[in-house]
Formats: sequence, C-alpha cells, structure tokens
Amino acid sequence: MVRPPTYLRFLYPGVVWNKPTNEKILYLTFDDGPTPEVTSSVLDHLSLHNAKATFFCIGENVKKHPTLYNRIKTEGHAIGNHTNTHPNSWKVKYDFYLKDVEEARKVIDSNLFRPPYGKLTPRTLFALRKKFRIIMWDVISCDFDDKVSAEQVEQNVVDYATNGSIIVFHDSVKAAPRMLEVLPAILKHYTELGFSF
Ligand SMILES: [Zn+2]
Repeated sequence: MVRPPTYLRFLYPGVVWNKPTNEKILYLTFDDGPTPEVTSSVLDHLSLHNAKATFFCIGENVKKHPTLYNRIKTEGHAIGNHTNTHPNSWKVKYDFYLKDVEEARKVIDSNLFRPPYGKLTPRTLFALRKKFRIIMWDVISCDFDDKVSAEQVEQNVVDYATNGSIIVFHDSVKAAPRMLEVLPAILKHYTELGFSF
C-alpha cells in the first residue's frame, strides 16, 4: 500500500499523482498540521537541507496555531487545503464536505487541495476540481501507522521514490515518533544523491 493502487487513478481523473521529470527532484508533503513542536521540528530539518515542502493544513489547526502557520509561509514553503475538520468524503454528506473545505479556505489561502484519507466521491471531486488543483501522491511513507517501525517508514520511501515523486508524511503527534526520526535521514540520503526538494 506504499503506492496508491492503480484503480484509484481511474477513479480520480484530473488529479496530480506525481510530476514526471528527468531532473532529480522530490516533492515532500506534510499533512494534518500545523502541530506545535512537530511542525517546528520539520521546518528546522527542512531549513538545514535548504529543502522546500508543501504543507496540507487542517483549518482548525491553522486557527489554533496561527504563528506556526505563518512560519511555514515565511520560510518559503507551499500551503494546501486539507479541509477544516478532516472528514472522510465517503462517510459524510456532500454539502457538509464542501462547507468544511470552504471553512478551511477562510484561513488557508491556496488553490491546492488534498482530501483526507485520499478519499473523494466522484461528485465531490468534480466540484472541487473547479476550485483547486487536487494533489495526491505516489509514495506514502506510512509514518502514521504505529505498528510500522521507523526503519520500515524510511524503506518505504527509499524503495519507491523516484524523480518527480510526491511523498506523504504527517506533521501530526501520531506520526511524529517515526516521521521525525526518518525525515533527517531521507533529506541526507537524497541530498547526497544530488536531489533537490
Ligand atoms: Zn490527513
């Protein structure tokens, strides 16, 4: 499950899974923040490697931690909308979901959107595509899974990432023990191989 199953690409027309290129570029993304302590550590690591990332933020977290949100932007990273309360599009009503996204949009100024759990109903996808570029991923680190070791999280990335990959991490309390251990190693590994972020 490190790579999204192929059928999803057919279910979700018009969304971005990766950015195919001959250049050594990786796109790091961090979902579910901003989270005190965790997001600031991520920013410190990125800064040490001169790396830029995209943070798909939850509206409620932005409202709680505006200073941290501003730090992400000030340091030159990109921001994306990850809804206001992290609902699952397959489990809530269409109207509720779109309102939740709009609520997040009041505090997150971005035309990028990533759906929580990578799930969207066809109708919701169609509506959101008019307002956003929908960004999925081609490598998921599984840093959120506390049954997976940090070594395995690192291996998930190293085994699957390639030029132009979009890689998912989480700047959440749950993922932090694995993500914060793996991120410096990933940054070092790919910097030595000549990649930029
Ligand atoms: Zn999420």
